[in-house]
Amino acid sequence: MTVHMLDVTKGLFIDGRFSAPLSGRSFATSNPATGSLITHVGEADAVDVDRAVRSARAAFEGPWGHMRAAERGRLLSRLAELVGENLDELVDLESLDSGKPVSAIRRQDLPAVLDTLTYYAGWADKINGQVIPARADALTYTVREPIGVVGAIVPWNFPLMIGVWKLAPALACGCTVVLKPAELTSLTALRLGELAMEAGFPAGVLNVVPGLGKTAGAALVDHPDVDKVTFTGSPAVGRQILRSAAGNLKRVTLELGGKSANVIFPDADVEAAAKAAAAGIFFNSGQVCSAGSRVLVHEDVHDEVVERLVDRAARLRLGDPLDPATQMGPLVSETQMERVLGYVEIGRREGATVAVGGGRVGDEGCFVAPTVLTGVEHDMRVSQEEIFGPVVSVVRFRDEEEAVRMANGTAYSLAAGVWSSDLGRIHRLAKRIRAGTVWVNTFGPTDIRLPWGGSRDSGFGREHGEAAIENFTEPKAVWINTAA
Ligand code: NAD
Repeated sequence: MTVHMLDVTKGLFIDGRFSAPLSGRSFATSNPATGSLITHVGEADAVDVDRAVRSARAAFEGPWGHMRAAERGRLLSRLAELVGENLDELVDLESLDSGKPVSAIRRQDLPAVLDTLTYYAGWADKINGQVIPARADALTYTVREPIGVVGAIVPWNFPLMIGVWKLAPALACGCTVVLKPAELTSLTALRLGELAMEAGFPAGVLNVVPGLGKTAGAALVDHPDVDKVTFTGSPAVGRQILRSAAGNLKRVTLELGGKSANVIFPDADVEAAAKAAAAGIFFNSGQVCSAGSRVLVHEDVHDEVVERLVDRAARLRLGDPLDPATQMGPLVSETQMERVLGYVEIGRREGATVAVGGGRVGDEGCFVAPTVLTGVEHDMRVSQEEIFGPVVSVVRFRDEEEAVRMANGTAYSLAAGVWSSDLGRIHRLAKRIRAGTVWVNTFGPTDIRLPWGGSRDSGFGREHGEAAIENFTEPKAVWINTAA
């Protein structure tokens, strides 16, 4: 593959071009499948973040602010075209940097990137206010104005896709963006910045500042000229961001973790449920905020579901993420691998049984075997805490009441799945389960047209669809006195 931008001097993408960080510092980024170094990436600090925010502000007040909405939409469409034209390179780059299998990136991440760019390109000139007839002696109406400079901070599990989930609606609304990718996966974001320039976006509309969370990320959140922070990541960092954003009362959207339940009743298509439950936890090596990391199974079908899950886990093809036949790649880093293996140990100590997997695979790269824990009790740590790896906890339930109590019984409220053929039960559970998304007789699909997000430790605010337009705009009421 050609990785033409793997050059530290290209560093940060600020004001429409690559420039080295002022400190001259860089950090290594490596391939989690082999542990080998890919390249060094320029490391932004507070001074560079300030440069990026100034550039974003100038673009917002200048060319971007004066551009016709339809033209913003056209540029987003052009960016989608360029992503399509450079798809192979982006797929390989993402795979190399994150360890995600190319097959999954091709099937899921990149189609979602293209769909998101195209969808919000269509929104750009359809963001309307309303005439609201409040008084007889006044013309009263609202307009929706872009919120300003947006700081977007993203994690490493879907680097390009989550970045685009944030920047596409922000740009459609007329905001400008400073994007901070996760330090483990900066490469596709930098390439996207370059493609945005090629598409014709004015300099400063999209800036990309790779760097560490506690320096570059924190500087973006603290910056007084950033109007909005949109963050996807861990609850711990989400809490920190909320505290820092209080400085200038920035608006904040937080998409945090999850401990999603897949609830399987005996009247379900058990084979389909088990298949989806396996995909729901092992997809992206379980590094998915909405992973079905808890499978709650009715006691009557418990053994059958476990047997099918174990069988699927054992048959998954782990290997080189660049091989199109690979179904599951490594975890993103050694730290993440240790964390996940640590949780398997915690599960064992708590009394769970490792029905399959449970260990590292090979001694090169960060591969963890697909793991099924059985005999898990609802209050065990492996049933309550986000593991963010290919480890599923199977918990047995006796009746619907108990299933609902357990489904709702963690700190998270992001997503859940229900498997049943009883229409009454489906509607009852769709209503009673506390989650931003409830999937019924399926698990895991997302679509840019539907709101996405959670509550409690899963964060607040919604991305996608029209909700994202509200995230990046402020309504303004205009009152014109028409009294004679
Ligand atoms: P993380 O919170 O450590 O890092 C996420 C991003 O925040 C990175 O870019 C990081 O550099 C930055 N960051 C870290 N400290 C910061 C600080 N003090 N100030 C500003 N930015 C800072 O999370 P992670 O380990 O990269 O990602 C895994 C987590 O993300 C999981 O908990 C997962 O559930 C969550 N996640 C949620 C969603 C969702 O849509 N709800 C999607 C993907 C991932």
